[in-house]
Amino acid sequence: MPPVVVILGRQGSGKGTQAERINARYGFIHVSTGDMLRAAVQAGTQLGLKAKAVMDAGNLVGDDIIIAIVAERVGEPDIQAHGVLLDGFPRTTAQADALANILGAGGPSLAINLEVPIETVTERMLARGRGDDTAEAIARRLELYEAETAPLLAWFQNKGCLRTVDGLGTEDEVFARLADIIDETITTL
Ligand code: ADP
Repeated sequence: MPPVVVILGRQGSGKGTQAERINARYGFIHVSTGDMLRAAVQAGTQLGLKAKAVMDAGNLVGDDIIIAIVAERVGEPDIQAHGVLLDGFPRTTAQADALANILGAGGPSLAINLEVPIETVTERMLARGRGDDTAEAIARRLELYEAETAPLLAWFQNKGCLRTVDGLGTEDEVFARLADIIDETITTL
């Protein structure tokens, strides 16, 4: 199995931008569960109809549903050939356990925690001035992230594949740090 890289980071950490740059350099397939769910909502599929209300309320879609769509996607030939960057999955330890089952012995190759302090991501989100970026909404999303992610960091730490990358600095500086770590990991696979 080619590289399976997981990227974790707070909203506003620059995760999306860096994920695109990583995929452009390494050729990984980008799998964002948020994007997949939004596409299903747009297309009006059964999954989309179910997911919409949950997403609108700011809650997490059920583990069973998410695990099934990721399992199916990860088995497809493009990912089997090029590797994958998972963005937004896993989000719970149940999802992480399922991922380990899907991948078998090798498990995920690398989990990157793109670390940007809460104060900085809050400033960034307030500065971009999106409608849903009120101070209260930002604080609530970050609180949820903290609650759901801390156990995941411990999970990846236990598997021995967690690396934390400082997300402060220019986009280029952060990308260089990420690339160093990915290079190290890929050469040992
Ligand atoms: P954000 O980082 O702002 O939460 P995403 O695009 O990653 O945005 O996700 C949007 C929404 O999709 C989430 O709020 C949640 O309802 C749902 N979602 C995405 N990924 C998952 C997941 N792995 N498990 C459960 N729900 C998810």
